[in-house]
Amino acid sequence: MASELEPEVPAIDQSLLECSAEETAGKWLQSTDLTREVYQHLAHYVPKIYCRGPNPFPQKEDMLAQHVLLGPLEWYLCGEDPAFGFPKLEQANKPSHLCGRVFKVGEPTYSCRDCAVDPTCVLCMECFLGSIHRDHRYRMTTSGGGGFCDCGDTEAWKEGPYCEKHELNTSETEEEEDPLVHLPEDVVARTYNIFAIMFHYAVEILTWEKESELPADLEMVEKSDTYYCMLFNDEVHTYEQVIYTLQKAVNCTQKEAIGFATTVDRDGRRSVRYGDFQYCEQAKSVIVRNTSRQTKPLKVQVMHSSIVAHQNFGLKLLSWLGSIIGYSDGLRRILCQVGLQEGPDGENSSLVDRLMLNDSKLWKGARSVYHQLFMSSLLMDLKYKKLFAVRFAKNYERLQSDYVTDDHDREFSVADLSVQIFTVPSLARMLITEENLLTIIIKTFMDHLRHRDAQGRFQFERYTALQAFKFRRVQSLILDLKYVLISKPTEWSDDLRQKFLEGFDAFLELLKCMQGMDPITRQVGQHIEMEPEWEAAFTLQMKLTHVISMMQDWCALDEKVLIEAYKKCLAVLMQCHGGFTDGEQPITLSICGHSVETIRYCVSQEKVSIHLPVSRLLAGLHVLLSKSEVAYKFPELLPLSELSPPMLIEHPLRCLVLCAQVHAGMWRRNGFSLVNQIYYYHNVKCRREMFDKDIIMLQTGVSMMDPNHFLMIMLSRFELYQIFSTPDYGKRLNSEMTHKDVVQQNNTLIEEMLYLIIMLVGERFTPGVGQVNATDEIKREIIHQLSIKPMAHSELVKSLPEDENKETGMESVIEAVAHFKKPGLTGKGMYELKPECAKEFNLYFYHFSRAEQSKAEEAQRKLKRQNREDTALPPPILPPFCPLFASLVNILQSDVMLCIMRTILQWAVEHNGYAWSESMLQRVLHLIGMALQEEKQHLENVMEEHVVTFTFTQKISKPGEAPNNSPSILAMLETLQNAPYLEVHKDMIRWILKTFNAIKKMRESSSTSPVAEAEGTITEESSRDKDKAERKRKAEIARLRREKIMAQMSEMQRHFIDENKELFQQTLGLDASNSAVLDNSPMVSDVTLMALGPAQTQVPKQRQFVTCILCQEEQEVKVESKAMVLAAFVQRSTVLSKNRNKVIQDPEKYDPLFMHPDLSCGTHTGSCGHIMHAHCWQRYFDSVQAKEQRRQQRLRLHTSYDVENGEFLCPLCECLSNTVIPLLLPPRNVFNKLNFSDQPNLTQWIRTVSQQIKALQILRKEESIPNIASSKNSKNMDKLQLPEGFRPDFHPKNPYSDSIKEMLTTFGTAIYKVGLKVHPNEEDPRVPLMCWGSCAYTIQSIERILSDEDKPLFGPLPCRLDDCLRSLTRFAAAHWTVALLSVVQGHFCKLFASLVPDDNYGDLPCILDIDMFHLLVGLVLALPALHCQDFSGISLGTGDLHVFHLVTMAHIIQILLTSCTEANGMDQETPAGEEELAVLALYKTLRQCTGSALKETPSGWHLWRSVRAGIMPFLRCSALFFHYLNGVPAPPEIQVSGTRHFELLCNYLSLPNNLISLFQENSEITKLLIESWCQNIEVKRYLEGERDAISYPRESNKLIGLPEDYSSLINQASNFSCPKSGGDKSRAPTLCLVCGTLLCSQSYCCQTELEGEDVGACTAHTYSCGSGVGIFLRVRECQVLFLAGKTKGCFYSPPYLDDYGETDQGLRRGNPLHLCKERFKKIQKLWHQHSITEEIGHAQEANQTLVGVDWQHL
Ligand SMILES: [Zn+2]
Ligand SMILES: [Zn+2]
Ligand SMILES: [Zn+2]
Ligand SMILES: [Zn+2]
Ligand SMILES: [Zn+2]
Ligand SMILES: [Zn+2]
Ligand SMILES: [Zn+2]
Repeated sequence: MASELEPEVPAIDQSLLECSAEETAGKWLQSTDLTREVYQHLAHYVPKIYCRGPNPFPQKEDMLAQHVLLGPLEWYLCGEDPAFGFPKLEQANKPSHLCGRVFKVGEPTYSCRDCAVDPTCVLCMECFLGSIHRDHRYRMTTSGGGGFCDCGDTEAWKEGPYCEKHELNTSETEEEEDPLVHLPEDVVARTYNIFAIMFHYAVEILTWEKESELPADLEMVEKSDTYYCMLFNDEVHTYEQVIYTLQKAVNCTQKEAIGFATTVDRDGRRSVRYGDFQYCEQAKSVIVRNTSRQTKPLKVQVMHSSIVAHQNFGLKLLSWLGSIIGYSDGLRRILCQVGLQEGPDGENSSLVDRLMLNDSKLWKGARSVYHQLFMSSLLMDLKYKKLFAVRFAKNYERLQSDYVTDDHDREFSVADLSVQIFTVPSLARMLITEENLLTIIIKTFMDHLRHRDAQGRFQFERYTALQAFKFRRVQSLILDLKYVLISKPTEWSDDLRQKFLEGFDAFLELLKCMQGMDPITRQVGQHIEMEPEWEAAFTLQMKLTHVISMMQDWCALDEKVLIEAYKKCLAVLMQCHGGFTDGEQPITLSICGHSVETIRYCVSQEKVSIHLPVSRLLAGLHVLLSKSEVAYKFPELLPLSELSPPMLIEHPLRCLVLCAQVHAGMWRRNGFSLVNQIYYYHNVKCRREMFDKDIIMLQTGVSMMDPNHFLMIMLSRFELYQIFSTPDYGKRLNSEMTHKDVVQQNNTLIEEMLYLIIMLVGERFTPGVGQVNATDEIKREIIHQLSIKPMAHSELVKSLPEDENKETGMESVIEAVAHFKKPGLTGKGMYELKPECAKEFNLYFYHFSRAEQSKAEEAQRKLKRQNREDTALPPPILPPFCPLFASLVNILQSDVMLCIMRTILQWAVEHNGYAWSESMLQRVLHLIGMALQEEKQHLENVMEEHVVTFTFTQKISKPGEAPNNSPSILAMLETLQNAPYLEVHKDMIRWILKTFNAIKKMRESSSTSPVAEAEGTITEESSRDKDKAERKRKAEIARLRREKIMAQMSEMQRHFIDENKELFQQTLGLDASNSAVLDNSPMVSDVTLMALGPAQTQVPKQRQFVTCILCQEEQEVKVESKAMVLAAFVQRSTVLSKNRNKVIQDPEKYDPLFMHPDLSCGTHTGSCGHIMHAHCWQRYFDSVQAKEQRRQQRLRLHTSYDVENGEFLCPLCECLSNTVIPLLLPPRNVFNKLNFSDQPNLTQWIRTVSQQIKALQILRKEESIPNIASSKNSKNMDKLQLPEGFRPDFHPKNPYSDSIKEMLTTFGTAIYKVGLKVHPNEEDPRVPLMCWGSCAYTIQSIERILSDEDKPLFGPLPCRLDDCLRSLTRFAAAHWTVALLSVVQGHFCKLFASLVPDDNYGDLPCILDIDMFHLLVGLVLALPALHCQDFSGISLGTGDLHVFHLVTMAHIIQILLTSCTEANGMDQETPAGEEELAVLALYKTLRQCTGSALKETPSGWHLWRSVRAGIMPFLRCSALFFHYLNGVPAPPEIQVSGTRHFELLCNYLSLPNNLISLFQENSEITKLLIESWCQNIEVKRYLEGERDAISYPRESNKLIGLPEDYSSLINQASNFSCPKSGGDKSRAPTLCLVCGTLLCSQSYCCQTELEGEDVGACTAHTYSCGSGVGIFLRVRECQVLFLAGKTKGCFYSPPYLDDYGETDQGLRRGNPLHLCKERFKKIQKLWHQHSITEEIGHAQEANQTLVGVDWQHL
């Protein structure tokens, strides 16, 4: 170690190395003043080890510190060599049954939703996997760092507190045994001494505040003039600010500045300059000056180096203590004792206290070190945990105040330890009773909110940013309150009662400050000028919601407490509103002979507040009382007589009236703040302790007063009293033509008031209000949510209120009310309401928003229509009220209510003008329905002798009283039944009348006295029934007809959409459903189809007509006509790559002539298949370009496509494209000359071609010598003895029109440009090579997809693929006509030479290093360049066939050379056939040629099998290639899946079924060829094992395998640290799904430079792994990331689903996630199909915000 360090830091003091730990410890053992001795040692050595220069050398420092400083401590402690001492201690140690593992950032944590006492109880992954909870309902989250595993803590878990591992440690636990008894006494004594000294030293030095002076006993004799300029972290300044400032202040590079800033951010401080005082002071002043402009300056100190040295050692020491106590629980106990021992200064002077109280003064690094020590010592020792908890509680106020004024995040504050203490039930209880913790927390909280108005209420009006920031920090106290309350007591002691109630008092004080806060007054005339602050108050309310609920839960557990709390709450409410009548005029209201005294108060004119937490708490407690027995057994204990119902209802009623008025548009001028407040008042996050409780409070009030009185007060508060107390109000309204707005307003108010009455009577699903339990309540919520529409799990969860444990209780009941429908390939799993639950639907469910209500109404009516039922939505049957609320139902049959009903019905009957609304009527009908249901229930449940006092039916049968003598309600309903304008409500009225009659029958059967006045209606009814039946029948027929037409319409619509989907959104899916059958027309079925060669099946010429998508003109595809083009996208690809490490280094020099069989980088061409005129496309593209340029100048916007790179969107389908392919006829027909009968065989042909090549070579050589005249040329040619019929001077005429020629060049250049990433150059000789290569590569990639999906080769292919392959192949075949003939000939010669040896080429690859399909395509497509000068009568077809046979033979040899034919346990099934004997013979030849380097083979059978398997992909690709080239349809047998494909392919390709016979037929040349191939040095090297080669068939590439359980990925990522910043955890670990590399994404540390720009790790990786395209999984976010190039990217839904069939992007819900194989396959398919870029394009077009993201920084 040392030797390594020496060259780097030469100045290691020799005296340090000579220092002996044993001797030092020995000296200490003898010492009388140990403290002085140790301090002297430290004073001498610490500055010699630490802080010797501008940069720390942690390795060297650690080594020396261990040797010189810690070593002696360990020796002293053990009294012997610690190498022996510590193991002894470890043996005596009793391993803890607590896990206590401290979580790293990003580590997965698990909480059991069934067994955890609260959601803060978590397990580490290891413990979780070994626990019973893995089979329970659990939640998974990633830790933010800090906190520890609760395994083994019996208080944290209701069940299964231990995992398998920690269970072992519990077996012989005797509680409370002192761990010190296991340690030798002398060790205990020495440990105590040394811990006391060292702990004290660490605390003293870390909390030391002087900058250049040490504590006296550490001061050195000679002091150097070396200082540090120390920069501290704050949360105010940004990274960029700090980096910029540092570059200026200390004159460093940006890289150094980034390094400093990163360390400051991580550790909390970093020295940025080292030198004499002056030098450092200077840097300090620059930094301060530069950062103090807008905010407070960065904290900088100039500190003497020796202080920094001691502080660094202090930190080291704390970590050392942490590791030493890991050896023994005894040592741990001693450390706890030392830490908590009171110091000389009395109270708060223990070391632990001193650290805590200085917490906010320490820098981040120091804080986390000592917090960790606390966690591994104090919190792991059961006895001292309690003592520590007491210290924590005693210091609570100070700690919180420090935290509030500090600016660091909570996780870096000691206050954050509250969660570890307060959530332990026994500790929380102890702290409440002994330290009065509840009161302390609440008081501390209130101390920090000092802004009050004149009434003492909180005031948030003029909140500054700083106060808002502070307010946010104060909120953490509410969290503490929640922790303390979260586990409810099972037993109450008197102490607990007393202290809880004391806390309750404090809590009421808090609520009192909220009661009536933020009051508002209606703005009339002008709109308000400034939106008032409202968020602070609501934030407070929202944060307190769970605390308020929990306070009630606590009260519910003990009757004594409940009664006391109720009394206290009532008293406080009286204080708030005792004199609520003060200053307001008393008035008397009277309707129908009832009258009541109240006050004059108008919500629309006076102040009103939404915040009424005291009233609402009382409502909550009242319900609890109603649930308890005490209310009935000992009502005298309750202060019920003190209740004044009018006082109780007043404020909640005002609040509800406010909502109604806002809805009626009366508060429009008060702006959005009010709208928002009303929204939150009803919102699921707040309503439980706001809206819901207001309803309960009104219910409480009504049940205690005369309902007539209540209704009159209500009418008055709604400002509707006049309307209903004046009988002719409606008429008067019409005659006077009152202002229309006012009428509208009143209508809405009446509707709202009726709605409120419906709620008061109907909402009985709170236990205590109605006779229900909690399950009924949640069931009802779910039923109503699902009545709106089917919902996904997460959607449903969001719509239900969560309790303090984040539970909704939904899982336990969902099965009972809903069916689960599994998700498909996209989308989510959905819950659907069970049909039998529909009858519980209440249209006026109080948690519906207006929009939800109307959606639900529509959905339910539709459902009823579908079931052919009437569409009435009558009120559901309700559970009975609890006794305390029982009298509430009488409101329905009260006189005032009947009067209201009658009035509204009267308006409806008269139906003149606009003074009424249908909604009003609908609500009245609903109320009547409710009353009937109620009466029916009463009758059904009545006991024998009881009289049913609910007589609604009788009351509505009576006509109205004088003076107006209106008809009875019943009669009016009958009239309305036939009103033509009430068609929608007819079914409901009918239902009411039916129910009325049913009740009457029930009454008649139970009593003998007939109900006289109803008789008339009965007779009337029977005649009407007939009439009704007839009408109904007609209506039914009409309805059926309507439905049929609708169905037809929607069918047509669907069809239309489907068709257009095909048009606009053609996916590359290979589904048979939306695809066209290949070449359906040329029918030549009775002959054997042959794709190539002289015997090629002749296809009748076909005329092809296409339509341009831009001008809609139709045109025939002809050689001489204008070019038609397909939009196309060319991209580089590594999808087929077998070697991802290979990158094209210098594209300018790269030679793409031969493709290596590893296919490491290919060029893929895809197309959406949309056809345009070339000139139409040109015009379109020019306009896109011009538009883009204008737009960029104006807005500097990005688009999803890069115009400068030639990109555009297909004008029809918006598919990303970057070029166009010309559409051509089969080009061979254009060039092919007549066939002569006599065609050469392979041997002859090779000879001829070789001669022609030789001739060409000589010619080229001569041409390159300039001084030879052209006339001489021909002479030489004669001399040369040209092969017969070969005319090298002949230059064929290009048959294509200029427009087509231009497009051939355009597309060729595009492939060249993109494929090689070079500047376009149409003359480059590599252009034709790139065209052929892209053709070959694209065919290969499609062959792979078909094969992977087990699809037949020529099965139905989507049109776009088919069109693309056809055009691409024909283009590649025609391209030579626009290239230089000599260039193409040159390529041919060289390609040919790779198989047929030619001395002129020395540098050709060996056959192991050539992809044979690429070679085939190149040779075939280059051949015409040679053939066009050959007039000997050899047909092009013959040439094709021989080329094909030759390459096939080479491929067979390639396969045989590389096959690993070890006997693989499979036995030969049939006796050796012809093929097997042949292949065996061929193999023998091969062995001879290679000098027996080739392994011995097991059998011909095995060989033949591997040849057949290996060559299949090649044959399949060839079949596709020749098919598209020559247009010969494939035999129908290959178009379906089958087994005989090998033979069929051979026939189609005119190959013998016994491929080996190719060699036998041409034996004379075969031997020569094989010899030349095998003699290559590379082949030898391969056979001798010196190099690798690709073997066949190549396996398809797949995305990496992903684990089934997502948490193992999280775990893997949490162990991953940034590869560049030494062991730091990566913030955004991201997994490459192609190769499995983990990257540190989205972070400064891992940015690299790529083409002159800084890019993130992912973008950099795409360039090496995917040639610019990447597929990643962001592990922390559970999100798939697609990247393409530097500017394109999008997020894609991950292949992980929870049990409810939903993804969890961002890991917010924490449900366990499992791999969905189908979805993962879909991603893989996108990759295989080269559709990633296209997918990004579509995503960006759909969501423009994605365009602006800096994808390259990911
Ligand atoms: Zn654990
Ligand atoms: Zn465990
Ligand atoms: Zn469990
Ligand atoms: Zn056109
Ligand atoms: Zn298109
Ligand atoms: Zn990094
Ligand atoms: Zn990769």
